[in-house]
Order: sequence, then structure tokens, then C-alpha cells
Amino acid sequence: MNSTEIKQLEDTYVANTYGRYDVAIACGSGCRARDSEGREYIDFTSGVGVNSLGYCEPGWVAAVQAQAAAVQHVSNLFYSEPCARAAEKLIKLTGMKNVFFSNSGAEANEGAIKAARKYSFLKYGQTENAQGEDAPNRYRIVTLAGSFHGRTMATITATGQDSFHKYFTPFLQGFDYAETNNIASLRETVTDETCAIMVEFVQGEGGVNELDTAFVREIAQVCQERDILLIADEVQTGIGRTGKFMSYEHFGVHPDIVTCAKALGGGLPIGAVIFGEKTDGALGPGDHGSTYGGGPVVSAGADYVLGKFLERDGAFLREIAETGTYFREQILGIPGVQGVTGLGLMIGVDVGDKDVKAITKTCAANGLLILTAKTRIRLLPPLIIGKEDIDAGIAILAEAIATV
Ligand SMILES: *Cc1c(COP(=O)(O)O)cnc(C)c1O
Repeated sequence: MNSTEIKQLEDTYVANTYGRYDVAIACGSGCRARDSEGREYIDFTSGVGVNSLGYCEPGWVAAVQAQAAAVQHVSNLFYSEPCARAAEKLIKLTGMKNVFFSNSGAEANEGAIKAARKYSFLKYGQTENAQGEDAPNRYRIVTLAGSFHGRTMATITATGQDSFHKYFTPFLQGFDYAETNNIASLRETVTDETCAIMVEFVQGEGGVNELDTAFVREIAQVCQERDILLIADEVQTGIGRTGKFMSYEHFGVHPDIVTCAKALGGGLPIGAVIFGEKTDGALGPGDHGSTYGGGPVVSAGADYVLGKFLERDGAFLREIAETGTYFREQILGIPGVQGVTGLGLMIGVDVGDKDVKAITKTCAANGLLILTAKTRIRLLPPLIIGKEDIDAGIAILAEAIATV
């Protein structure tokens, strides 16, 4: 099918819930995507941070193909090697205890919310309320203004943006929002009923805003003082994106639960809820589950991606950090760029009051794919990107910024 036919078909038959780019991607290799007409696009998006090793990395393709041909699905009632291997690597890389595999980031956050509430229920119990019903003593979860945690009912409630809190009432009970990077607001929002604080250390959808180190330290301090669980939503920031395996490592804190997804499968839908010392065993048989979670094919993809971080003595992470530094220098050299935010290869670009949607459109027309987040340009290039692709993409970006 040609691109026009694909677009017409999708627009007719797929529900209209996405503001789509005027591009239909047919195939790709490395950091370059192609449409049906053979037009090439340099990709600074990786999907949205998903294709961590770029398009169709040969080793990853081979691992996924071999697994699809060996056994495509095993119910979680049975054991299976790819799941076991991926879990072992994730634990080696994080130093945590064990992992529950989900199918997406929102599902991973759902699992984290359930685990935090169960932990607190077991530890702090329940009390009969005025209506004569048993109510848990600690169940509230504090999140931050500007955060994004997913699209399910619990995770849109957790998301600290008013624009998500309409149409779908009633939302879940038990979420409170503190102002980002405001210690006084954090201290005010946490109460004796708080069981967890859930944060993105670099807010992605919210505009590529990294948290202040002092604020993160304060969160960790409050959590420690009051036995509150720290949940790190590493769905976008995790798996090497920021130049560390998980972004919390930049801040010297140790979350009790870590969620990840996007980059984990290298393009396949897999998420993870990773449990630390405190939350190890909080969820038991029957408490949580998933038909597909941690299935063999997606786990084989994740196992391959995770292997990249363990081989060559961890060189991959150092390379990502170096590439991030180079990338940022090039961005700052573009006339019209006022600043750069984020960490590693999670890059926010400030272009003042220039129209980022118009810049995105111009870039796509000229062969470069970029993302936006609020008023910023957001770049999430494949973690394997090299200088040649960066330079070529930057030239297109610079021209778009100059002309818009
Ligand atoms: C993308 C994202 C999610 C939701 O992940 P899905 O796989 O789309 O459900 C949750 N949290 C953060 C920080 C994200 O960036």
C-alpha cells in the first residue's frame, strides 16, 4: 500500500484518539525509518522511547524470531526460560529483589499502586469508620504536578495534570498532588494516611523537566522518616535513557518499587514492576496477574535489550552518556535554541515561544522525526545513535527552527 492509502484506511477504521503525524512508516534500520515511497526519516523519537536499539537490530530480530518459532505463548501458570532470563538480568542491573512483568507502562504503575497499598494494609491495618465499614489506615498516594503515569483509570488519577481529570468521573480515591520541586508543598501534602510517593525523576510528557536534587533528597527523607514507599516511574526514563540504567541513580536514592516499560522490550510490549527489599512479597499468589505479561516473545526481546547493558563491562551506558553530552552540545549550538533540559538521551529543547508543532511538521516534511512535550521539543533518539545521524538530524532541526 502507498502512504496515502494507509492513511485513508487508518483514518476510516481506527478510532481517532491520536493527533497523528503525516507519515506512514513501512520499515526501518538503525536510526532511519522509511515510508512506502522510499522517503527516509532520521528518527529522534524511537517510537516514544521504545525502539531502544533502533529499528530491527539484527541480534534482537533473531532472538525474537527464534522465540516466536519455538513457542509463542506460555501461560503464567507454567515456567518459561525467556521470562526467567529477562527477570534475572533486570535484577542484576537494579540490585532489587524480584519483578512482575506487565504489558505496558500504565499496567506496571497499576501493579506498583496495588503493591504499595497491600504493603501498607498488611503493616498498618484498617479501622472501622463512622459508617461502620473497615477502611485502611494508610492508602493515599502522593504524586507531583505535571507528572504523567498512564491512561488507565488509576494512572490518569495519579497523573498530576488537571487536563486528565475530566470526562471520566468518578476517579479513584486516595491520590494527592504536591507541587514539583516545592519542598513545603511536599511536606504539606504528605499525611499519616500516605502510603507511597510516586514520581518521575525527569517528567517526560510534562515537558522534560528533571526534578531538583534537593527536592528528590527531601522526598527520600520524608519516605524514610515515615515509612512511606518511594515508587519510581521509570517507564520513560529507565533502561539507559538518561545515561544511567535507571534515572534515580543520578540522585543517589533507592526506590522501593520501580516501574519500567517503553525501552525494555526494544519495540515489544512489556512492562515491569520491580520490587525492593521492603516490597518483596507484598503481592502474593492471586493478588495480581496478567494473561500475557512476561510472555516468551516479548521476554526474549527484553532479555536481548538487557544483555546489551551487561556485556562489554557496562560500556553501553557510558556510550549513551557520552552521546547525550555530544547531542546536547549540538542542540545548544542551534540559533534560536534557548536551553536544553532532561538527562542523557532524554532531551528537552527550549525554543522560546516558537510553535513546536509547526517545527515538528517542518522536520517531518524534511526527513526528521521529533516529538514535543508541552512547549518544548522532546527528543528520545535510539540509544545506539551515532554522530553521523545526530549531525544530519540537527541540520534539519536547525533549518526548521530558523524557518518557523
Ligand atoms: C508512557 C508512560 C507511561 C504509560 O505507559 P504505557 O505503556 O503507554 O501504558 C507511564 N509513565 C510514564 C512516565 C510514561 O512516560
